[in-house]
Amino acid sequence: MSSEIERRGLMLVLSSPSGAGKTTLARKLMDSDSAVTMSVSATTRSPRKGEEEGKDYFFVSPSMFVEMEKSGAFLEHALVFDNRYGTPREPVMLALAKGRDVLFDIDWQGTQQLRQQAGDDLVSIFVLPPSHEELERRLRARAQDSEDVVAARMARASNEISHWAEYDYVVINDDLESTLDKIKTILAAERMKRGRQTGIHAFAAKLTS
Ligand code: 5GP
Repeated sequence: MSSEIERRGLMLVLSSPSGAGKTTLARKLMDSDSAVTMSVSATTRSPRKGEEEGKDYFFVSPSMFVEMEKSGAFLEHALVFDNRYGTPREPVMLALAKGRDVLFDIDWQGTQQLRQQAGDDLVSIFVLPPSHEELERRLRARAQDSEDVVAARMARASNEISHWAEYDYVVINDDLESTLDKIKTILAAERMKRGRQTGIHAFAAKLTS
């Protein structure tokens, strides 16, 4: 069966301003596709209500973050909203070596760093909110952050959005299910790229022998 053809795992990045629905999309994609591993970042920010250690983030102290950074434990790292975030290198490398795809919920700074390291193995998607009003509504609906945090995030959202053109794909999240379908379509097509199907040479050779 063609689905058994060996292929190289890819790195799928989802970026968006906070409040565009990316975290929900990432979770839904993980639930629907067993070949995808989520990269769990380390962060110096405090956990929000309901967030779990090791599932949503590894919550680390600023000094621990610096230790990790110095020891080369991060594939990429960045300062976002006064907090530091980094992608632990080892789990990503292990997953890719097993031919699994790895999903990243990281910002534009991290995406640029991964692009430099991973080149063609990286597939990046920028998720845009349907409108300014909807973005603000979604940020307020979270109600976990104080007014000034919401205001600061709205201001920074425009900075994040200004990087959309650096991404391979751009999707507008006006409806969660149809946006999820679009992301699944992108992933399905990227998996079929000739260069990623490392087992296709042998398969094709058998067909013609
Ligand atoms: P939040 O604090 O709302 O979970 O995330 C804030 C922002 O940091 C989001 O845009 C998220 O994508 C980004 N982020 C989360 N983890 C990482 C990471 O490991 N590296 C980078 N560069 N950005 C991250």
